[in-house]
Amino acid sequence: MKVKTYLPKVIHISGDKPDEYLCGIKKDGSSWHNRCLTDKFAKTLPLCERCSELTDLVYKAAIKE
Ligand SMILES: [Zn+2]
Repeated sequence: MKVKTYLPKVIHISGDKPDEYLCGIKKDGSSWHNRCLTDKFAKTLPLCERCSELTDLVYKAAIKE
Protein backbone atom coordinates (compact mmCIF):
# COMPACT_ATOMS: atom_id res chain seq x y z
CA MET A 1 0.00 0.00 0.00
CA LYS A 2 1.39 3.34 -1.06
CA VAL A 3 1.28 6.30 1.27
CA LYS A 4 0.05 9.39 -0.47
CA THR A 5 2.32 12.34 0.10
CA TYR A 6 2.06 15.65 -1.61
CA LEU A 7 5.18 16.44 -3.57
CA PRO A 8 5.82 20.11 -4.22
CA LYS A 9 6.47 21.13 -7.82
CA VAL A 10 8.37 24.30 -7.07
CA ILE A 11 10.47 25.69 -4.25
CA HIS A 12 9.18 28.80 -2.55
CA ILE A 13 11.29 31.19 -0.57
CA SER A 14 10.22 32.25 2.91
CA GLY A 15 9.40 35.91 3.23
CA ASP A 16 9.06 38.24 6.19
CA LYS A 17 5.72 36.79 7.16
CA PRO A 18 5.90 33.53 9.11
CA ASP A 19 2.86 32.02 7.41
CA GLU A 20 3.47 33.15 3.85
CA TYR A 21 6.09 32.66 1.22
CA LEU A 22 7.71 35.61 -0.51
CA CYS A 23 5.28 35.39 -3.42
CA GLY A 24 2.29 35.57 -1.06
CA ILE A 25 1.29 31.93 -1.14
CA LYS A 26 0.23 30.60 2.22
CA LYS A 27 2.52 28.08 3.79
CA ASP A 28 0.98 24.71 4.35
CA GLY A 29 3.33 22.83 6.59
CA SER A 30 1.31 19.66 6.43
CA SER A 31 1.70 19.36 2.68
CA TRP A 32 5.45 19.11 2.89
CA HIS A 33 6.74 15.83 4.09
CA ASN A 34 9.88 16.28 6.14
CA ARG A 35 12.08 14.30 3.80
CA CYS A 36 11.05 16.58 0.95
CA LEU A 37 12.75 19.44 2.68
CA THR A 38 16.22 18.00 2.32
CA ASP A 39 18.56 19.87 0.03
CA LYS A 40 18.92 16.85 -2.19
CA PHE A 41 15.23 16.84 -2.97
CA ALA A 42 14.93 20.61 -3.15
CA LYS A 43 17.68 20.81 -5.74
CA THR A 44 15.61 18.77 -8.15
CA LEU A 45 12.85 21.37 -8.10
CA PRO A 46 12.70 24.69 -9.92
CA LEU A 47 12.45 27.86 -7.92
CA CYS A 48 9.07 29.56 -7.85
CA GLU A 49 9.20 32.24 -10.55
CA ARG A 50 7.56 34.91 -8.44
CA CYS A 51 9.73 34.15 -5.41
CA SER A 52 12.80 34.23 -7.62
CA GLU A 53 11.82 37.61 -9.07
CA LEU A 54 11.17 39.10 -5.67
CA THR A 55 14.41 37.76 -4.24
CA ASP A 56 16.22 39.32 -7.17
CA LEU A 57 14.65 42.70 -6.45
CA VAL A 58 15.46 42.51 -2.74
CA TYR A 59 19.01 41.49 -3.51
CA LYS A 60 19.54 44.25 -6.04
CA ALA A 61 18.11 46.80 -3.64
CA ALA A 62 20.36 45.53 -0.88
CA ILE A 63 23.62 45.76 -2.85
CA LYS A 64 22.88 49.33 -3.91
CA GLU A 65 23.42 50.52 -0.37
ZN1 LIG B 1 6.71 31.33 -4.47
